[in-house]
Amino acid sequence: MKTEKVLSDIPDNPYILLTPGPLSTSAAVRNAMLRDWCTWDEDYNIGVVQDIRTRLTEYATSQPEKYTAVLMQGSGSFGVEACLGTAVPEDGKLLIIANGAYGRRMVSFMQTMGRSYVLAEFSETEQPDIDKVNEILDKDKEISHVAMVFCETTTGILNPVREICLLAKEKEKMTIVDAMSAFGGIPMDMEGWGIDYLISSSNKCIQGVPGFSFIIASVQKLALCEGNAHSHSLDVYDQWKTMDKKGKWRFTSPTHTVRAFQQALNELDKEGGIEKRYSRYSKNQQRLREGMKEIGYETLLDEGMQSPIITAFCYPDSSFEFKDFYEKMKEKGFVLYPGKVSDAETFRIGNIGEVYSEDIERLLKAVREVTA
Ligand SMILES: *Cc1c(COP(=O)(O)O)cnc(C)c1O
Repeated sequence: MKTEKVLSDIPDNPYILLTPGPLSTSAAVRNAMLRDWCTWDEDYNIGVVQDIRTRLTEYATSQPEKYTAVLMQGSGSFGVEACLGTAVPEDGKLLIIANGAYGRRMVSFMQTMGRSYVLAEFSETEQPDIDKVNEILDKDKEISHVAMVFCETTTGILNPVREICLLAKEKEKMTIVDAMSAFGGIPMDMEGWGIDYLISSSNKCIQGVPGFSFIIASVQKLALCEGNAHSHSLDVYDQWKTMDKKGKWRFTSPTHTVRAFQQALNELDKEGGIEKRYSRYSKNQQRLREGMKEIGYETLLDEGMQSPIITAFCYPDSSFEFKDFYEKMKEKGFVLYPGKVSDAETFRIGNIGEVYSEDIERLLKAVREVTA
């Protein structure tokens, strides 16, 4: 059979990715890419695109009818840039709350777009201080929008999104959350938490392959954004208006990636939803943390602020060579991630994706062997 031949041509993955996306996907997700789709046909527009959009809003909030999901070509950063450019108008002002590289990336977007912002920067190993945020919002009345990262992948820190967004709502600000590495892996409720815009992408906790980002937005808020965007291609409002009609993207969509994402959503359903996935990630992260500590690797963050998504470990001593460690671990079937923290020597291990407790046990065994 022809299909058999095609399948047998696909090599097995030589290692699992313990990285914050792209991550290790299931064989069924990868196999879902083995057919072609017409972007003008209902099989794709209704059967795949509209289905995904509906399911994303259902996963994002207890009141999905008030929200809409807009899919956008490009990686997660394209989604963040598109969202900031569309949501924050030329006469608006964005408060960016940052404690890592992804928070600071929002500054670069605003600078490039030439839009107004203020930066509230916090230490990479501490959660943003809500009292300080409160003070800034009270002082600077020009602030119209507040943006922050949920799980700051730089360190794996979990930020108090709910508290800060509810505070911003009290002061009638619009809220934008980069939930890139959290959505699908950590329960959240846009409506209950006061989030107007949430951004994530295909290759994070939903466990699809890379190729597009998505913006889940309050319909009421997005409806006010016509003509705001700094860019034609990255106009979330325009993309929404076209997509809302019949599931069509304005420009060529990454069809195979989108179909694979639908399969990934099926698997999230099958796992039992976000709560269940959160529980798998959390158990694996806890075992990883304890196991690594026994071998001599301490985590950068205190447990209370640690996400179940990715963990930063400190170098055990000054003679530690990450490159060497990385190569040896790769040979044993595990790809790790270098550190990104400004003032500490760290490396990172992600546990999102098709990674189960057996994998963590195998990983710990490999770390023990490589460290000995
Ligand atoms: C992965 C990620 C992004 C997007 O990065 P891309 O390389 O553009 O996909 C943005 N924010 C956070 C917090 C992330 O983890």
